[in-house]
Amino acid sequence: MRVAVVGAGIAGLTAAWELGRRGHEVVVLDGADHIGGKLLSGHVGGVQLDLGAESVLARRPEAVGLIEAVGLADQLQHPVTTRAGVWTRGAIRPLPPTVLGVPSDLEALAASGIVDDVRAESVPVPDQDVSVGEFVTARAGREVLQRLVEPLLGGVYAGHADALSLRAAAPQLLALGDDPVTAAVAARAAASDAPVAPVFAGLVGGVGTLPQAVADRSGAEVRTGSTVRLVERSGDGWRLLTGPVGDVEEVRADAVVVATPAPATARLLAEVAPDAAFALAGLDYASVALVTIVLAEHFELAGSGFLVPPVDDRFVKAATFSSTKWAWVADSGRTVLRASVGRAGESRALQLGDGELVDRVLANLAEAVGRLPRPADTHVQRWGGALPQYEVGHLDRVATVRSSVASARGLEVCGAAYDGVGIAAVVAGAQAAVTRLLDELGD
Ligand SMILES: Cc1cc2nc3c(=O)[nH]c(=O)nc-3n(C[C@H](O)[C@H](O)[C@H](O)COP(=O)(O)OP(=O)(O)OC[C@H]3O[C@@H](n4cnc5c(N)ncnc54)[C@H](O)[C@@H]3O)c2cc1C
Repeated sequence: MRVAVVGAGIAGLTAAWELGRRGHEVVVLDGADHIGGKLLSGHVGGVQLDLGAESVLARRPEAVGLIEAVGLADQLQHPVTTRAGVWTRGAIRPLPPTVLGVPSDLEALAASGIVDDVRAESVPVPDQDVSVGEFVTARAGREVLQRLVEPLLGGVYAGHADALSLRAAAPQLLALGDDPVTAAVAARAAASDAPVAPVFAGLVGGVGTLPQAVADRSGAEVRTGSTVRLVERSGDGWRLLTGPVGDVEEVRADAVVVATPAPATARLLAEVAPDAAFALAGLDYASVALVTIVLAEHFELAGSGFLVPPVDDRFVKAATFSSTKWAWVADSGRTVLRASVGRAGESRALQLGDGELVDRVLANLAEAVGRLPRPADTHVQRWGGALPQYEVGHLDRVATVRSSVASARGLEVCGAAYDGVGIAAVVAGAQAAVTRLLDELGD
């Protein structure tokens, strides 16, 4: 069978890999001039670094499994430290143990000085979806929401707790039940003292090196500069139009996997799965920028970085001390930091020029960690349409998309728009899409 995959982000490449290893012929088409989507590595100040995503969840098997399957097991590294802080109330304060911001150690929380007022109310969880903000405020109080849950959730979605869906964006909070603080504290107390496996993993050279390894091992034909403009039925199979306007090329396939962000997927499915297209057109994205700073001289930094509660209204949303967090970055001998800027609905910061963005980030960092030595080099990576916002009702939206796509034989969708934005979830989603496709086509 010949399959066309639209999008060479980690979703599309995983789909290509899964199809290729089962002996199918695959062509992957991506509009950008590079593969990998939000996984991108590049050089700043002579150091190879991640300019997009930087780690994978190692607690679930899919991403690490893919890394091993494509021959990069020996490049896997766990962070040297995951000790993060919260920059609030005039200092970087140690982030106490939490379940996605819901405190599980009240003594550590009190010692951190991050929050004064914690409640532990029992309020029945409603059957219908609610926002993370509504759930947490009613049970743990507004301060826990604003100074712990918001910054942690913001680190994943760059979104707002009052809009994000409890069921889709924070199922681990839903699992804590009616009284999440008491449940989180009890779960931590019951946990054994046995050393726990590392939660995250990265790759020497960056997780941005993963896409090329997957592409190389997949056996697929991978084309960049190939924006797909049309997907339509053609007899028993499919016809795609790709390439620059004026030089459009036709690609034919028996099946199609569309692995693009929701706005592009909505356009491509408009004719073949209109209900899915309509549902996807309503999915909002947050745009963010990552500012990477390589210092000219060594600067001592403690911990893996810090998060910033949006209520404090700082320019920087979070900072990672890359050379403290990753041994492979420390090996470069350089002090490297990266800061993220921008949240859902707040794109003003991203309209600044690179120079001003860097200056404002450096000013924030100086306040947080002290005056830094001069940068040897800086880099601004803008990610427009970076992170889908799983707002209240997201699971219904996804169900609509799935049932509409299922009515078009030989069509599948995957990517960060559906079942989780993290790399591991995206890899799992792509694997599931391939399984559904092959089941449907009897292959
Ligand atoms: C700044 C940032 C940091 C992140 N950090 C982490 C992290 O540390 N850990 C983690 O687990 N997750 C992280 N994430 C989330 C994760 O990286 C993404 O959710 C995931 O990589 C998305 O993969 P994808 O394949 O679904 O989409 P994308 O990576 O967006 O890939 C989609 C591809 O489709 C292509 N495309 C779009 N339209 C068309 C078209 N019409 N025709 C052809 N091609 C098209 C694009 O060029 C792109 O290559 C981060 C995300 C961002 C933005």
